[in-house]
Amino acid sequence: MTHLRKPEYLPPQVLDAHLQVSAPAESAGGLAAVRVALTASVQQMGVARAVSALLDVNQATGFDCPGCAWPDPDDRRSVAEFCENGAKAVAEEATRARMTPELFAAHSVDELSRQTDLWLGQQGRLTHPMYLAAGASHYAPIAWQTAFEKIGNRLKSLASASEAVFYTSGRTSNEAAFIYQLFVRLLGTNNLPDCSNMCHESSGYAMSQTIGSAKGTVSLRDFDAADCLVVIGQNPGTNHPRMLRTLQDAARRGCQIISINPLAEAGLKRFRDPQELSGIFGAGTPLATHHLPVKINGDVALLKGIQKVIVENHPSAVDREFIAAHTAGFAALDRDLRSESWDAIVQSSGIAESDIRRVAAVIARSRAMICCWAMGLTQHQNAVANIQEIINLLLLGGHFGRPGAGACPVRGHSNVQGDRTMGIWERPSPEFLRSLGAEFQFTPPSAAGYNTVEAIEAMHAGKVKVFFALGGNFLSAAPDTSYTASALQQCELTVQVSTKLNRSHLITGAEAIILPCLGRTERDMQQSGAQFVCVENSMGVVHASQGRLDPASPHLMSEPAIVAALARATLSSDWSHFAANYDTIRDRIARVIPGFENLNARIRQPNGFELPHPVRDRREFRTPSERAQFTVHAIPNLNVGENRFLLTTIRSHDQFNTSIYSLNDRYRGIHGGRRIVLMNADDILAHKLAAGDAVDIVSHHLGIQRRAKNFRIVAYEIPRGCLASYFPETNVLVPIESVAELSHTPTSKSLIVSVERVAQ
Ligand code: SF4
Repeated sequence: MTHLRKPEYLPPQVLDAHLQVSAPAESAGGLAAVRVALTASVQQMGVARAVSALLDVNQATGFDCPGCAWPDPDDRRSVAEFCENGAKAVAEEATRARMTPELFAAHSVDELSRQTDLWLGQQGRLTHPMYLAAGASHYAPIAWQTAFEKIGNRLKSLASASEAVFYTSGRTSNEAAFIYQLFVRLLGTNNLPDCSNMCHESSGYAMSQTIGSAKGTVSLRDFDAADCLVVIGQNPGTNHPRMLRTLQDAARRGCQIISINPLAEAGLKRFRDPQELSGIFGAGTPLATHHLPVKINGDVALLKGIQKVIVENHPSAVDREFIAAHTAGFAALDRDLRSESWDAIVQSSGIAESDIRRVAAVIARSRAMICCWAMGLTQHQNAVANIQEIINLLLLGGHFGRPGAGACPVRGHSNVQGDRTMGIWERPSPEFLRSLGAEFQFTPPSAAGYNTVEAIEAMHAGKVKVFFALGGNFLSAAPDTSYTASALQQCELTVQVSTKLNRSHLITGAEAIILPCLGRTERDMQQSGAQFVCVENSMGVVHASQGRLDPASPHLMSEPAIVAALARATLSSDWSHFAANYDTIRDRIARVIPGFENLNARIRQPNGFELPHPVRDRREFRTPSERAQFTVHAIPNLNVGENRFLLTTIRSHDQFNTSIYSLNDRYRGIHGGRRIVLMNADDILAHKLAAGDAVDIVSHHLGIQRRAKNFRIVAYEIPRGCLASYFPETNVLVPIESVAELSHTPTSKSLIVSVERVAQ
């Protein structure tokens, strides 16, 4: 059922008018980081609001940064406990700009959808609930109660709860996430896809299978004890910037830091800590001691090469005692590594045998190693194998359950790990459902729900009537943008709980509702007084977050209050107590979720508390065999083909997920534009192209082509045969059915593409 008024989807695909390219930066941080952070903060928030917010962010009694999930250094917080991108994320939310009903009246959905994502984000905070009637061209204000009745009636009219999908973005607090999943399961479905499906799902899957836990096994204090840090498929300088201070401290201790990434990112070369004079006026601290510019998706080969050198040439580095006591499968791995050919390793990784041997020797000397990774490993067809090769490498040296050692998948969204812990998952464990059912006296649905890709396919097939998103920008974050756009348009009703205008408000079902919510930075007054929420960071620390800024509008509701009102309108359940005092939600969490016992008392401790972790705390591997499992993986045969490249989608430095802060990416020397493609200079020559040429990027998958138009070629230090370009602009190239084996994560990091010069 398509709708007549629907605008053409894609944002303008035109060449950037003011693109400038300079040499990439040799360091991250420095005075520029301070200047950019303060400029963005004062421009958006004004001086007073900026000072108040920046002195409150990531403080023990303040609010949690709405950016990434890097933990706070509880024992040594600074007055300015934020990074440049944290300041931008705060400014983005606490902006004084307002997207009012008057602006919606002035701009039709068609007009708005032709604007860039940057422009949409700059329109500011939503102030009122808005409704787009069937066939209407403009959003109009709607009363909260009317909105809830519309949603409730539509949900009650469904033939089955599985005709509704409830998406969650990683910013949602634990309290909101817990009652949201309860609401959805009381409705009768597990259709709870989340942004984790598109990012670290492969990590969770790979680790659950091998070490019996989906969460990282290290705490921040472990970084003080490590003698070797491997940072693979991650760009901390942009995506987890406070991690640079942790790396700096380690480097100054003589810790070896190995960077594995197709791109030599400034944030792993050198850090100029803006909180130190030497960082402002000096050259800063060199970080990576070794950089391996692996080819896109060459990680399995590289990691096997490193392991091969260790088992063959550094037998003392193989922790036989740990392996005998705690693991299974070593013999098969050992055989496979010894039989693996160096030709295959070098050809697939793009790294010379001598360089692999050099790094393997460093790792072999390590007595306490941590491996950190992010999307660069998780969004490939063989993503689970990528991560299990890291687990193999750590198991070889016994790097689990001792200080300074372990696995560290670094989460990109502030509470994405917490949401999963609260039950936001389409494939909940039987234990969780039993505990939830016992606490709330019902039988939760046990059939798996749709993950993100399955939800899009179900919408596209007309099986979903209602799409509800708690935060996020689903359309721009999702793969195969045109396909996802038409999928959303198949729905009868789409509902977005949001703080700011984004593209998912413009590609809608027949009817659409926007519910504007409070942000992290804002005071949340409920019947029992000011409320706080709790979140869980990448390292399993649960802590409180309380905003103190005046809300952007008197017409906003908190996420827990929205869910409580939804339950009343749909289930006729009186959840007003949940909205009135979040302690009542936490009491329930304490009874349902292991590790959260006595939550209300423990969350009021300064710095919160650390969740137990069986692997970290006592080398307990909760696998079927109760042993950590070595796994054997073949080197993927990527078969890219003639005149084709592997493209990886990346973020710029002025971007957080799909929120665009500016058109600059100063660490990579990109200014005033986003439609660029990074290409090796020799490849440019070999393909008779030139830097600055305008090209279309075309992906090729199962005989189907997808096109992203008008990009400028930028000559860049990237392995031959590899390209890089920003998302969400290139998400249109990601085939919906191209997902990671087992984990189903979209393969946004390795797309087979060609580039076609376009006439200018
Ligand atoms: S490192 Fe992440 S959580 Fe910390 S201030 Fe920066 S963006 Fe926010």
